[in-house]
Amino acid sequence: MVARAAHRARQRADLSSPATGGAATLALEHVTHAFEDVVAVRDLSLSVAEGEIVCLVGPSGCGKSTLLRLAAGLETLQQGRIVIGGREVALPGRSEPPERRGVGLVFQDYALFPHLDVLANVRFGLRHLPVAEQRRLAAESLDRVGMAGFAHAFPHTLSGGQQQRVALARALAPRPPVLLLDEPFSGLDVSLRAQVRDQTLHVLKAHGAATLVVTHDPEEAMFLADRIALMRDGRLVQEGSPVDLYMRPLDAFAAAFFGEVNRMSGVVRDEQVETPLGLVPAPELSDATPVTVLIRPEALHLSLSERIDGVPARVEAARLLGRTSLVHLGIEDGAGGELHLHARMPGQFLPAEDSFVTISLDSRQAFVFADE
Ligand code: ATP
Repeated sequence: MVARAAHRARQRADLSSPATGGAATLALEHVTHAFEDVVAVRDLSLSVAEGEIVCLVGPSGCGKSTLLRLAAGLETLQQGRIVIGGREVALPGRSEPPERRGVGLVFQDYALFPHLDVLANVRFGLRHLPVAEQRRLAAESLDRVGMAGFAHAFPHTLSGGQQQRVALARALAPRPPVLLLDEPFSGLDVSLRAQVRDQTLHVLKAHGAATLVVTHDPEEAMFLADRIALMRDGRLVQEGSPVDLYMRPLDAFAAAFFGEVNRMSGVVRDEQVETPLGLVPAPELSDATPVTVLIRPEALHLSLSERIDGVPARVEAARLLGRTSLVHLGIEDGAGGELHLHARMPGQFLPAEDSFVTISLDSRQAFVFADE
């Protein structure tokens, strides 16, 4: 058991290879990859600049890990090109081995050597250097992640968060120009995850490598990323800043992936859609186009008093969720039935069940997409 874990750790730690010099960037160009008849990645291009953190997000099975493994050299490239630090490291039929690519890797299970102490784990990727230099760089890297006091501890005596930080120190120690992190926080419980994620963000920013992080958690991506790349079925759906993806989603999938939405149907007339909450702009869609309107819960502003410019709604339930309150509402759907909506208000806003509130809509967070 220990031997197998050690072997796996060795394989992975071996990938934390020395920096190769040159511009510290990662570029994946027109990459396609299939496992027999399953196409995991389809003609995908993505680049990460020096000092930039890019988060790759998407639902389970969309191809995130495959793309990261291709960048690391853990999968053989089938189509496309991969460039690291200005150097072509993979073409179909010609692929540099992982340890020569200048990438640091952090995996979900950390993959530390169970039989080596923390310092020796971090020194592993520095074996090509004189011993004194190995010690100095490893100690420096541990200090950077706040683990200097644990140099002689063994992995099994550390908490999950501490192990994650050691894995990060090991990946950073050789100062690779590219860092690849695959679901690095998913083994941690919720409260620890927030804390370790925060520390990791600061360490990554201080390190300045081109960093690609795989996560399935949109909030985590928004927390960490300078730029987010959203994947679906092996393709890139949208790429941009967290604000772009949240406030300007390109399709209904992207809108729903980054946050809860209320859904309504409608038809475009004069560049607008009439909904039970009022008119929503649809400037680029032609008349008579059937559409889905997606409205974020925080776009529904509620007031306790009646307002002529708002829509009356019956409160079905209201719950404080910490920083916001979630209010379940029922409104007339315009066809004799009732439409159920969620509104999110800042702080504590808990109107009584069966009372009435007035909704006014912030249409900047209402997104209209033509039905396919
Ligand atoms: P998750 O978030 O669940 O880890 P993911 O987005 O990282 O998913 P991948 O692990 O890249 O997705 O998988 C993409 C597709 O390729 C899936 O359909 C998966 O079943 C398939 N796949 C991945 N690795 C292999 C493999 N070694 N052999 C066969 N199929 C694979």
